[in-house]
Amino acid sequence: MDIDKIRSDFPILSTTVYGNTLVYLDNGATTQKPKCVVEEIEKIYYTTNANVHRGVHYLSQKATDLAEESRVVVQQYINAEHSREVIFTKGTTESINLMAHSFCRQFCKEGDEIIISAMEHHANIVSWQLQETIKGIKLKVIPINEKGELMLDEMKKLISSKTRLISITHVSNVLGTVNPIEEIIEIAHNHDIPVLIDAAQSVQHMVIDVQKLDCDFLVFSGHKVYGPNGVGVLYGKEKWLNQMPPYQGGGEMIGHVSFKGTTFNELPFKFEAGTPNYPDVIALAKALNYIKNIGLDSIKSYEDELLQYCSDELSKIEGIRIFGTSEKKCSVISFLVGNIHHYDMGMLLDKMGIAVRTGHHCAQPLMEELGIEGTVRVSIAFYNTKKEVDRLITGIKRVVAMFG
Ligand code: PMP
Repeated sequence: MDIDKIRSDFPILSTTVYGNTLVYLDNGATTQKPKCVVEEIEKIYYTTNANVHRGVHYLSQKATDLAEESRVVVQQYINAEHSREVIFTKGTTESINLMAHSFCRQFCKEGDEIIISAMEHHANIVSWQLQETIKGIKLKVIPINEKGELMLDEMKKLISSKTRLISITHVSNVLGTVNPIEEIIEIAHNHDIPVLIDAAQSVQHMVIDVQKLDCDFLVFSGHKVYGPNGVGVLYGKEKWLNQMPPYQGGGEMIGHVSFKGTTFNELPFKFEAGTPNYPDVIALAKALNYIKNIGLDSIKSYEDELLQYCSDELSKIEGIRIFGTSEKKCSVISFLVGNIHHYDMGMLLDKMGIAVRTGHHCAQPLMEELGIEGTVRVSIAFYNTKKEVDRLITGIKRVVAMFG
């Protein structure tokens, strides 16, 4: 990988922060955008702006074609069988809310159970909790061990005749653990239970093949895969999506509307009410093609090496506690040093130009489990370098020295 060339595609990485060149290590929160993505958005508004699916005129058809070609780009990126299995949403959060609303309405009755895990993002907790109130479903939670790994034996015990879905993150946004989703899917399918994979922290780091995985649903956000904000994906197997009712009502999701009764459109439009965010959909396809051109296998081996280096260097710091010590990790390292508050660490690193995340990372139940309020989180992307990791380590050591 030609890192200098790659970095030159991301002008923001040359930003000066308090006199230092930015070290951006908050990629788990959002990734930076390559020029081609930003330029694509500008190009669409300057050359191709028109509402999609609605016009017979030239611009509308051109915009529609580009948006539908982008659906195929997403289909190929995750190797879905059909492009109609790709639903565009606002992001992971909306994708899971769509799932919770629509799946529960169709398949759950009072007392039915959904299994999630102790390491889920709030999006994959609260969306289902809302259905506890609306539908009377119950949430069951797979516990984690001291390394921050899912306890699959415990998961097996949670499965019952009332289990309707297992909804699980692929990679923890706090611990960095890569969960054994292949095994989870196999266990679930042996009980005829579908599985939803939250790929918000994985789809930008490794090859995901939904057909090979055989997952029933998969969700991710555009802004975490070097694409724009405000766009995301819900992939679902056609057999499930066809049975599920629409999430929102409005234009495009209908077949025919009458006051006597309304029929709904086919997939994927049944789930895409209203004018879609087509400029960002098209720019998302640019981002995915950008990743593909570098190559996910090269990205993975480069990032894994950087993660290992960062992890090794952090481990040498006296008094450091790393949360999540599984052998199978990806991109993310969460830590605390001595009694230094995560917020103080984050603020002081920022003054040195180093951007990290601090806090509970939208995973308060996990924080409770770990017995802490928050962590400092470093999350790596393919444009990061060993030199940047060295700056992080030097920065942390300076903060430690300040606190004596
Ligand atoms: N799930 C996971 C694992 C995440 O890391 C995030 C974002 N931090 C989300 C869901 C929510 O994503 P978004 O805010 O883009 O909808």
